[in-house]
Amino acid sequence: MPAPRPNPHVAALRAYLPGEQPRGDGWVKLNTNEHPFPPSPRAVDAARALLAEGAARLRLYPPPDAAPLREAAARLHGHPAADIVAGNGSDDLLNLLIRAYAGPGRPVGMVDPSYSLYPVLAGAQDAPVIRVPFPPEGRLAPDALAGCGAAVFFLTNPNAPLGHAFPPSEVEAAAGRFPGLIVVDEAYGVFADADCARLPSRLPNVVVTRTLSKSHALAGLRAGYALCPPGVAEVLHRVRDSYNLDALAQAAAAAALDDREWLAEATARVRAGRARLADGLGALGWRVRPSQANFVLADPARRGMPASPDAAESAFAFLRSRRILVRRFPGHPLTAAGLRISVGNPAETEAFLAAAADWTAGRG
Ligand code: PMP
Repeated sequence: MPAPRPNPHVAALRAYLPGEQPRGDGWVKLNTNEHPFPPSPRAVDAARALLAEGAARLRLYPPPDAAPLREAAARLHGHPAADIVAGNGSDDLLNLLIRAYAGPGRPVGMVDPSYSLYPVLAGAQDAPVIRVPFPPEGRLAPDALAGCGAAVFFLTNPNAPLGHAFPPSEVEAAAGRFPGLIVVDEAYGVFADADCARLPSRLPNVVVTRTLSKSHALAGLRAGYALCPPGVAEVLHRVRDSYNLDALAQAAAAAALDDREWLAEATARVRAGRARLADGLGALGWRVRPSQANFVLADPARRGMPASPDAAESAFAFLRSRRILVRRFPGHPLTAAGLRISVGNPAETEAFLAAAADWTAGRG
């Protein structure tokens, strides 16, 4: 018997390639923008408390509406809980948005470069993808998206992997002229100077997605949420799994969102780490893009080897040989000569900078 054939559009699909998750200890892992510090103890306690209740609790399904998490997000943002949808990580929400608003003849739009998961999710629904080039000056013109033809447009803000953030005023102006749904993917929003979290309460076609993976150091649990304008949450509920968040993720995420002190302090430490990383690389002569996220994109260069995809590959391989993982994005001219380096804890950042200095000096 030949292997059963998948749907033609799935046969043509290539899976998203996540960053390497190495096995074993001893790695400095700066390749997937995880938070460098432990999560709020309140989040950990909430998960522990649930487990302490034991098998009785795990025997039951979790709350299907993730109400405690949604209510915590509502308190944080001053947004109605009824217009917030919780997701199994924000990837789940991006998928639901495409499932509900895109498909054959209803294209998915994205800025190029941005998050390479969008085309995979679009492909799974047989939706075409429209790429709008990242504006050269970094300014989103009011008509930038107006005629692009997408039914749903993903605006990664701050951009990944560039780190640039469009101010909310530019996003609002662009949304006003765009006839479809704009999803502002704020996976890195807490690290930026400004965010778009208030737009969905004013604009009928703007959804903002957030993830606790980056902001709250909970990538292992999988929790995110979407701030929606009236009417959208109800649509997303139709296409999501009824139990899309497990009980542990719900409990920990709700407690994490309520711990504002942790968020303020941890975010400030990440921003300080970002400044140290950018300064350190600048001092080595690497070209560093200004970043509003928890990573920087920088082009390695050294004597006899100016910034280029080859230099980036050389530095990448050198760092890996020192058990330091960063990420390459060879597929776009704006990123091909760069390495994306997540902000680590101070020891990780110093270990990375020391290895980067060795590569730059041609040592080792
Ligand atoms: N959006 C962007 C731009 C991201 O980089 C990521 C993480 N890779 C996500 C969304 C998804 O994050 P999660 O599913 O962990 O919430």
